[in-house]
Amino acid sequence: MHIRVLGSAAGGGLPQWNCACAHCNAARSKAQSRRLQASLAVSADGERWLIANATPDIRHQILAFEKLAPQPPRRSPISAVVLSDANIDHAFGLLELRQADRLSIYSTETVRDVLLAGCSALRPFAKPPHSWHIIGDSPVHVNDASGLPVGLRVRGIDVGGLTPQYDGGRDVAGAAAGILINDGAHRLLYAPCVGAMTDPLRRELALADAVFLDGTFWAEHELSVQALGTRTSRQMGHLPISGDGGTLSAAVGLGGKHRYYTHVNNTNPVIDPGSDAARAVRDAGWIIAEDGLAFSLSKEAGSAAGGRR
Ligand SMILES: [Zn+2]
Ligand SMILES: [Zn+2]
Repeated sequence: MHIRVLGSAAGGGLPQWNCACAHCNAARSKAQSRRLQASLAVSADGERWLIANATPDIRHQILAFEKLAPQPPRRSPISAVVLSDANIDHAFGLLELRQADRLSIYSTETVRDVLLAGCSALRPFAKPPHSWHIIGDSPVHVNDASGLPVGLRVRGIDVGGLTPQYDGGRDVAGAAAGILINDGAHRLLYAPCVGAMTDPLRRELALADAVFLDGTFWAEHELSVQALGTRTSRQMGHLPISGDGGTLSAAVGLGGKHRYYTHVNNTNPVIDPGSDAARAVRDAGWIIAEDGLAFSLSKEAGSAAGGRR
């Protein structure tokens, strides 16, 4: 299984267009520290790719990864898109893919319904020639636009979470899912929105060979402390990394060999590698994902090779 981080920031990215916090300002002056909104490209064969979450940055993400370049005359190696939730920064990149002849999309039923109710421009994706498949506890084969399997299966596991603000932030089943991707030899867990440390999430953290976990906020009151908002981390559908019931304490000793935090908000102190927060994450055996990070889980030895950019 080949894995590439297309983006590692929470909604707004780094820098966020209207934000002059220390991290955003630093990223404005230093292109290397910029982050696009969180997304992952996954492939069983290195040829046909499943995109986990389609961000509004997807056009730049496709340009930045040569494996996603189209073949003549107009054939994209992007076979399918799986969505963890209906947030604008996770799903509205579909609008950028509107020229697709046919696209296979995978999400929970709730995510599909919230998206189609909230954005009529997405409705063509729910009709032929496209196909929108519902995921849940049972594994579903990922097929490309012609219906051929691409060598991956996906499941959606309960991770708590809320529907997006444009839908009222409702606490309903299937509002967000942890995406479990399996190629028959390895398990990858992609969970950028974790509202609760549920039993299925604990189980998959223990089993997965690679994990990308919600690293949106370091602390519960991160936004109010920085005078950038009033809602807490949990009120926004994200368990913070630190503190009582934070994901770092809950996930100690659980993750697979590759343990990453992703979907990092521009307010999160872990962005600075010299911060105490970044050190605490490293000491616990986790890595803050960066755009361009790539690695493979090999079938032969179960070993991995990888690197950044
Ligand atoms: Zn997001
Ligand atoms: Zn900022």
